[in-house]
Amino acid sequence: MKAVRLEAVGGITLRDVDMPDIGADELLVRIEACGVCGTDRHLFHGEFPCTPPVTPGHEFSGLVEAIGKSVSGFAIGDRVTGDPNIACGRCARCHAGQVNLCSNLRAIGIHRDGGFAEYLALPQKQAFVLPAGLDPMHGAFCEPLGCCLHGVDLAGIKPGSSVVVLGGGVIGLLTVQLARLAGATTIILSTRQASRRALAEDLGATMTIDPTTPDVID
Ligand SMILES: [Zn+2]
Ligand SMILES: [Zn+2]
Repeated sequence: MKAVRLEAVGGITLRDVDMPDIGADELLVRIEACGVCGTDRHLFHGEFPCTPPVTPGHEFSGLVEAIGKSVSGFAIGDRVTGDPNIACGRCARCHAGQVNLCSNLRAIGIHRDGGFAEYLALPQKQAFVLPAGLDPMHGAFCEPLGCCLHGVDLAGIKPGSSVVVLGGGVIGLLTVQLARLAGATTIILSTRQASRRALAEDLGATMTIDPTTPDVID
C-alpha cells in the first residue's frame, strides 16, 4: 500500500510499505479521509516528540475492512473514526481519570502509524462508529472537533457569553461554530487572512478583526 512516511525530522516521502498486521483487538481501516494537523507540521520540523520512521495522520475516517478475532461491536463495512491517544490504563494519571495526561501515552500518527496511508490498524477501544451516510471528510474532523468541544466546555461558554477566538485555522473556525451552538451572542475572531475572516463571518462570528491593525484593543 502507499503511505506518506516521516522518515526522520525534515524528511517526508510517499512510498510503498507493507499492509499493517492487525492484532486480535484491532480493526483494519481503509482510510477515506485524513486531516493535516498543525501537530504534523511540528513533527516534520522536530518541534514535537515522536519516533520516526512513522506514518503521521491522527484525524482520520475510513471503512472497516477486516477485524481481529477478539473484536466485538464492529462489523466489516462500518465507517469509523478514532481517538488517536492510546492511554496505558495503569499509571497514576490514568487511575485518576486523566487519561489525556497518561505517562505512557502512545498516539496514532505520532508513536505508531497513522492515517496518511491507504490502511490503518486501529485498536477497537480507540474506534467509534460513524453514521453510515456521514461524509468521510466530516468524519476526519471528529478529533479536532473533540479538542474544540473540550475547550468550549473549559471556557464555560453559555447562552449570552461574549467570546474572542484567537486564530482562524481549523481549530479557530470550529470553535466559532461551537461557541455559536453554545449560545454565545458576541463572537469575535482575530486572524490575519482576509479569506478566513470572511469564512468565520459565514460560520457565525459576529465580528472579525485583523490582529496586525493598530487598534485591536479598541
Ligand atoms: Zn491534531
Ligand atoms: Zn497511563
